[in-house]
Amino acid sequence: MEFTTIASGSSGNCIYIKGGNTTLLIDVGCPMKHVCASLHELGSSIEDIDAILVTHEHSDHINRVAQLSKKYHIPVYASELTWESLPFYDDYFRWERHIFDYGMEIGDIGLDFFRLSHDAVQPVGLLLEHNGHQVGIATDTGMVTPSMYRKLSNVDGLVFEANHDTAMLQHGTYPLFLKQRVSSDKGHLSNAQAAEALAKLAGPKTKHIILAHLSEKNNMPQLALQEVSNAFTSDEGTPNISIAPRRAAHPLIAV
Ligand SMILES: [Zn+2]
Ligand SMILES: [Zn+2]
Repeated sequence: MEFTTIASGSSGNCIYIKGGNTTLLIDVGCPMKHVCASLHELGSSIEDIDAILVTHEHSDHINRVAQLSKKYHIPVYASELTWESLPFYDDYFRWERHIFDYGMEIGDIGLDFFRLSHDAVQPVGLLLEHNGHQVGIATDTGMVTPSMYRKLSNVDGLVFEANHDTAMLQHGTYPLFLKQRVSSDKGHLSNAQAAEALAKLAGPKTKHIILAHLSEKNNMPQLALQEVSNAFTSDEGTPNISIAPRRAAHPLIAV
């Protein structure tokens, strides 16, 4: 399987994943031009995209989903309640909506999903599988849910949220209500929460972790990287850990 992030953070999210002859985008919250240019960089193109999967209805994840779907006739998948709350859920999508189902397959990729804890109606993380390899996606969650531990243990690749440094958030310029929202159980994961979870989740198969959805104001890439790396006590078997750039594609990872 191949995977990477195309954009990451509250300014817009998009993840690319390929297994066999199937290519998927997870969320499209960044400009279409950037998606097309990034796909080209990755040796792919928008015509190769078989489906768009939507994790939740926040604008940084769905801004360009409808536009891309309608222009290129790409099917869109989301959880049932998420569909009801998508602002672009119009007559077109009433006939063209696809709902996540347990044990489903999209082309060559097996798909599983699990609940996250976030202030959206039915936010999900995703587990994608091809040929015995697994890639897990979990961003936009205020806590590490039991199902995250069940589903993401010892997967080959992960895109995992490390949103904020707790001290930077506390002492930063966000208004109090926003600080409370971000740090709540239905907000976003701190570097410390990510570090603790990833040290437990990573196993002998885990080759690469991309830390994602970093806050522009309340985090720094080197802080996130350091805190998560420090949670891995031995060098042996430690996965590669990197940071998802905010507005550029991360290099392609093969697992
Ligand atoms: Zn988000
Ligand atoms: Zn969100």
